[in-house]
Amino acid sequence: MKKHVCPRCGSSNIDWIIPQVWSKWVCKDCSYTGPAIEADEDLINEIKADWEENKEKYLEEEDIRAQRILSGEEKRLDDEMELEEEDELSD
Ligand SMILES: [Zn+2]
Repeated sequence: MKKHVCPRCGSSNIDWIIPQVWSKWVCKDCSYTGPAIEADEDLINEIKADWEENKEKYLEEEDIRAQRILSGEEKRLDDEMELEEEDELSD
């Protein structure tokens, strides 16, 4: 039997947030928003296994994207820190 699940983590713990827009779902487990998919048990298990294996990578990628959008100043701070490290190395 097929059911609606989160395409990212395979959770069926999802809510249809805007009844007029079928593609707007939110996942309570991984906070994904977007279209849900219809999947059977086999596919759900595959998605869950992939998510368990890669979730840190997926969340990290999302984090990096969010930081880039939030500020370009952090990059300058990183550059300064690198210079300090070089000084310590030459000591
Ligand atoms: Zn999810």
